[in-house]
Amino acid sequence: MADILKPPTYVSPWARDDDVSEVLKLARTFFEREVTPHLARFAEQHQVDKETWLAAGAAGLLCISVPEEYGGGGGTFAHEAAVLWEQGRAGDDALGYSVHSSIVAHYVLTYGSEEQKQRWLPRMASGELVGAIAMTEPSTGSDLQRIRTTARREGDSYVVNGSKTFITNSSHAGLVVIVARTGGEGSKGISLIVAEVDGLEGFERGRVLQKVGQHGQDTRELAFTDMRVPVANLLGEEEGQGFYQLMHQLPQERLAIAVGAVGAADLAVELAVAYSKEREAFGAPIASFQNTRFTLAEVSTDVLAARTFLDWCVGLHVEGRLDAATASRAKYWTTDVQCDVIDRCLQVFGGYGYMLEYPIARLYAGARVQKIYGGTNEIMKELISRSL
Ligand SMILES: Cc1cc2nc3c(=O)[nH]c(=O)nc-3n(C[C@H](O)[C@H](O)[C@H](O)COP(=O)(O)OP(=O)(O)OC[C@H]3O[C@@H](n4cnc5c(N)ncnc54)[C@H](O)[C@@H]3O)c2cc1C
Repeated sequence: MADILKPPTYVSPWARDDDVSEVLKLARTFFEREVTPHLARFAEQHQVDKETWLAAGAAGLLCISVPEEYGGGGGTFAHEAAVLWEQGRAGDDALGYSVHSSIVAHYVLTYGSEEQKQRWLPRMASGELVGAIAMTEPSTGSDLQRIRTTARREGDSYVVNGSKTFITNSSHAGLVVIVARTGGEGSKGISLIVAEVDGLEGFERGRVLQKVGQHGQDTRELAFTDMRVPVANLLGEEEGQGFYQLMHQLPQERLAIAVGAVGAADLAVELAVAYSKEREAFGAPIASFQNTRFTLAEVSTDVLAARTFLDWCVGLHVEGRLDAATASRAKYWTTDVQCDVIDRCLQVFGGYGYMLEYPIARLYAGARVQKIYGGTNEIMKELISRSL
């Protein structure tokens, strides 16, 4: 029976590369030392420490898939996935690594001018400059074409007005990619404008939002009132490219969410297996009950299946072949699996599973939003269905 209860040992094809397996080890050590022991404190203060970002930078984990000439690690998305995997496996839902490294850095890398890349990426790689992306507004999330934040051109500046909500990394962010309207209605009027926000007049960080989970994450509202940003901070050569740029980058964001989802589900299974062997009821370990064993057999199968699909998608993305529909499949399906697996693992813990001092409870609370951000799972199905 013991074999059924063990999660399968499996090495992802993308992680067989020596370099990537080194990153896995490096990231594991980083999360073990710098994050996991502090998760309860991060949750209380609703943010990680600034030093956590600097430590991640010093360890070489930030902007790991950005070329070395811009201060990055010179890797591929496989290296990025290695960090995200270990973050999921560490049960860390506080450090906004993916927004900073997998998303914001790649907007700058892909659409930035040489000058912009030189100016921002090295400081992002060191952790000195933390990145955030501000798309969602109080009145619109899924329907991004309806955003109302405006960036009106006045001389050498954009004058930005509007508000954003649910923005990850909001407390620490020094660099915010703002989705703003530079032109008329609809998708063609949208541009991406980068603001260096520390001390910037007209920029305000709103209250920290009280969430169901991910309490260590600094999620806030942001407000812009006649905030002046140099015209030179537009991403791309001309205005009106923002919507296209977003659509092009969102698959990587969705895949990054999927990596963390499977990593967290894998951890949940490991925790439940261990607990089932320790906890006794009716004079025997709960692992001796068929229901417990079958639950663990099922969830370990779910995680293995999710992991193989994930590996396939990561492999495709590294080769530049991951399309938007497949990234959407990965995002919606793995996050559904994550929520389901963690819920079933929590049940194995009985009442202790509902206590926040148990990591399984934090995994449960943190997982729910994975079906919502990065494009809701319903929107993912819309995108997939359009491709059929
Ligand atoms: C913790 C957290 C962190 C976040 N971080 C960021 C961030 O860093 N930056 C950022 O810009 N945003 C961020 N978001 C916002 C997130 O991306 C949005 O919440 C998400 O895109 C959904 O938008 P909404 O909340 O406005 O929901 P709505 O768009 O109002 O959707 C409400 C419901 O309607 C459904 N729905 C909407 N349209 C359709 C449709 N066409 N077909 C079927 N169903 C539909 C949705 O699936 C959902 O169930 C974050 C959110 C959370 C909760």
